[in-house]
Parts: sequence; structure tokens; C-alpha cells
Amino acid sequence: MAYGGIEAGGTKFVCGVGTGPDDVVVTRFPTRDPASTLADVVGFFTRRMSQGDRIDAIGIASFGPLELRPERSGFGRIMRTPKPGWSGVDIMGAIGDAFDVPVGLDTDVNGAALAEARWGAARDVRSSLYLTVGTGIGGGAIVDGEPIHGLVHPEMGHVAVDRAARDAFEGRCPFHRDCLEGMTSGPAIAERFGAPAEALVGPERDEARRLVAWYLASGLRSLVYAVAPERVVVGGGLSHLPGVIPRIRVALMDRLGGYPGLVEHSRAGFVVPAELGDLAGVSGALLLAERAARGR
Ligand code: ZN
Repeated sequence: MAYGGIEAGGTKFVCGVGTGPDDVVVTRFPTRDPASTLADVVGFFTRRMSQGDRIDAIGIASFGPLELRPERSGFGRIMRTPKPGWSGVDIMGAIGDAFDVPVGLDTDVNGAALAEARWGAARDVRSSLYLTVGTGIGGGAIVDGEPIHGLVHPEMGHVAVDRAARDAFEGRCPFHRDCLEGMTSGPAIAERFGAPAEALVGPERDEARRLVAWYLASGLRSLVYAVAPERVVVGGGLSHLPGVIPRIRVALMDRLGGYPGLVEHSRAGFVVPAELGDLAGVSGALLLAERAARGR
């Protein structure tokens, strides 16, 4: 079996054909209006198939929010989004109408979480929590190979956090102001310092790292208690701040306060960086295709 994968992002679409991160050929398109962007995507797969590529199913790991309840009339559509023109777009239908193969859909974050669990930083555990910290903050939990869903996909970036000492930033989440994403997304850090975190040096970089570690540890306390993962995988732009991952782990240990006293929480391998980099999303989309081919 071979699959098509689409990582649908707010600034770019990544399309690939293959079976996993070590066997995928990808092409990237800038995200434009829905009709032009989806035409680019359909054109890509049409060309690959005409060149002899086999595609048994296509998976889409998309920005959201998404309607993922099959019984709903809006199933497979992007729900109300601030991204101009994209609210209500039937992304799953557009691909399903163009190609006579099963189509799978989930969030970009759940896609990346699935890929890290299959091939990346959580490949040797049964349960993991993946958090991406970049333009926004999102998270997915994988248990025995299945991403957790309920009414909708989880919105882990919007959990409440405790304010860090000496931090007067009001927060920039339009819904909650000072939730996890509001306090420590890439733009939240950049707004405090007047420059993105990766451009900071010296004491300012140290302070940015302190804030990122504090807020992620604070949010992860709730998430770790609620989901009980064997491993936490952190990806996204801010995960590349030098030394931030061990600091998150130490700060999380501190926030857990010794409860429930699991030795696993104290191990260096409990909080680790993502391994698949910019192939995580499209690799996850290939897994969504694989699941669709199996009728899941
Ligand atoms: Zn929020």
C-alpha cells in the first residue's frame, strides 16, 4: 500500500506520496484562497498518479477547528476560523471528489502526534502527549496508536496556567487572554521582547527561556494529570530554544510537587524534543490515509 498525505497549514500546504518519513517525496505550496490552494493539491496528486505513483488512500492533517463527527452535516469541513475565506471549506470533500480513494482527516496536531508515536520520539511507548509550541500551541494525546477525540479534538493550548513571577504581560488569546497559548506562543514571546525568541541573545534569551519553561510546565501539570502519558514530546519553533526542553522537565517536576511520586516523571526521557521536524505533519497525514484505507 502507498498513500498520499496533505499537511494543511495556515501558511503552507505540504503534500507527499509515500509510506512514512523515510519514504516520502514532498512538495510545498503557499496557502492561498481555498479554491487556488485545493487546485494546487489536486494538481500535485494528479501529476504523481499520471507518473505512475500508486495512491491507495489520502490523509489530511489540517489546521482547524475541524468538524470530525461523521453524523454532522458539516463533517470534514473547516469550522469557523479567523483565516479569511477558509471558514466552512469542505476540505475532505474536495479531495474525496477529486480522487476515488478513501480519505482520512484529523488535525495537524493529531497528525504530528500520531507520526511521533509511530516513528519519532514516542515510538517506544504506548501513550504519549505531543505539544507543539509555535505560532499557536496545540496538543494531541495518543493512546495505543489512537488519538484521543471527544466532542471535538482536544484544545490543549487553551488550558489555564499560573502566572510566572515578575511577568506583567496581559496575554494575547482573543478568548481567554492569559491561557497557555496566550502567554507563551511564539507571538506572545515576541510581543514581550519586540523580537522573536530565536533572535534574542544573552539575558533576554534567558528570560524568554524561563518564561517558556514556566508556562509549559504549568500547562503540562494539568495535561499530565489528566492524560497520564508515558512521555511528553515537545515540537514547534520554541522547542528549539537552546536548553529549553530540560528546563521544562525540571520545572514540570517542581510543579508536580512530588505527586503522585512516579519515578518515570523524574527521568530525562519523560519530556523530550520532537524528532520528525517538518516532516511530522505530512507523515501523520500518511498515517491518517493508512487508517482510512483500513476503514477507521
Ligand atoms: Zn486561549
